[in-house]
Amino acid sequence: MSERIEVLRRLQSINNKIRQLRKDKEYRRMDVQEKQRQIQYKKAALTEKQKEIKSFQKTIDIKELDLKTKEAEIQKFRVQLNIIKTNKEYNALLSEIKGREADKSILEDEILKRLSESELMDGEARKLAKEIDDEEKQLNEYLQTMETEITSFDKEIETLQNDEKEFFALLDEDALYHYRRLVSHKDGIAVAGVSNHACKGCNMGLTSQTINLLMGGDKLVFCHNCGRILYLNENEE
Ligand SMILES: [Zn+2]
Repeated sequence: MSERIEVLRRLQSINNKIRQLRKDKEYRRMDVQEKQRQIQYKKAALTEKQKEIKSFQKTIDIKELDLKTKEAEIQKFRVQLNIIKTNKEYNALLSEIKGREADKSILEDEILKRLSESELMDGEARKLAKEIDDEEKQLNEYLQTMETEITSFDKEIETLQNDEKEFFALLDEDALYHYRRLVSHKDGIAVAGVSNHACKGCNMGLTSQTINLLMGGDKLVFCHNCGRILYLNENEE
C-alpha cells in the first residue's frame, strides 16, 4: 500500500475519533438539557398543584364559615324556644331548628370529604416537591462529573488535532485538497476500503478497471458512485 493512502487512512481514523468525541460531548449536553426540561416541567406542575390546593382550601373555609353561621342560628333559636308563648310558635321554631341541623349535617359531611381530598392533594404536592429536589441534586452531581469528562474530551480532541496536523504535513496538495473536500461532506468519511470488488463507503460494485487502477500504483482512485478515495485492503486480491 502506498504511503499516501496510509496517511489518508490514518487521517480518516483520527477524524472518526474526533467526530465521536464531539458527538459524546453533544449527547451529554442534550442529556443535561433534557433533565433540565423535566425538572422545569415538574416545577410548573407543582406551582399548578399549589394553586389548586389554595383555591380548594378557600372552598373549605367558606363551608366552615357557613357551618358556624348555622350553629349560631341554632343556638339563637334554642334560646328563643325558652321564651316562646304559643304551641304554634314553638313548633314553627322547632322546625326551623331541624332544618338548620339538617343543613349543618350536610355541611359537616362536605367539609370532611373535602378535608380528606385536601390531604391527598397535599401528599401529591409533597411527593412532587421531593422528586424535584432529588432530581436537582442528581443533575448537579451529573454536571460536575460531566465537566470533568468534557475537559478530558477536549484534551483528547486537542491531541488528535495535533496528530492530524502532522499527517496533513505529510500529504501533497492534491491529496490534501481531496481529503478535506470529502471529509467535510460524505458523513465525514473520505476514505473507503474495498471489499469483494465493492466500495465499503457506498456498497456499490466497482469495475475491474477501478480495481486495476487501485492495484496499479500510487494514483488516487475515487469511487465512481460516492466519490470517496478508495484503498485496497492488504488481503484483497
Ligand atoms: Zn463508493
